[in-house]
Amino acid sequence: MTSRVEVPCPKCRRPIHAQPPSAACPSCGTRVEVRASPGATGGVASCLACNCPDLYRQKDFPRKVGLAIVGAAALLVFVAVASRLPFWAIYVPLLGAAALDALLYLALPEVVVCYRCRAKHRGFAAEPRPEPFDPAVHDRYAFGRSTE
Ligand SMILES: [Zn+2]
Ligand SMILES: [Zn+2]
Repeated sequence: MTSRVEVPCPKCRRPIHAQPPSAACPSCGTRVEVRASPGATGGVASCLACNCPDLYRQKDFPRKVGLAIVGAAALLVFVAVASRLPFWAIYVPLLGAAALDALLYLALPEVVVCYRCRAKHRGFAAEPRPEPFDPAVHDRYAFGRSTE
C-alpha cells in the first residue's frame, strides 16, 4: 500500500492529495509543503504537512458507504411495514445494517489525522500509533493554546 497525505487547502479547504515535497491545490493553486520521510519506523510521528506532534487515529470510513447502508436499511424497514409483515420483520434489516457496519469497521484501514491542519495520512506503518480522537486536544487547537 502506498502512503499518501491528504492536506486540506489552507485557502479554500478542499483536500489536496499531496506528494512530497509539495503539491498545488487543484481548485485555487495554493501550494502546500509535505515532508517525505515518515520517520524511522515508517509510521507518522508528527504531521507531514505542518510538523504538529498531536495526531489521532480514526477509521477511514467512507461516509457515502455508511449512508448507503442506512438508506438501504430504512428502505427495507419501509417495505416490511408496508407489506404488513410481522413486527419482528422490521428488525431484520436494522440488525443486518448494524452487522454490516461492524464488519466494515473491522475491515477498514485506519487513517492518522493531524489535530492542527487536519491532514490525513494513509498507508503508513502502524507504529507509532496515535491515540484515538481526544476532544480536549481538539479544543486546544480549535480555541487556541492559551488555556494551558
Ligand atoms: Zn485551494
Ligand atoms: Zn498538520
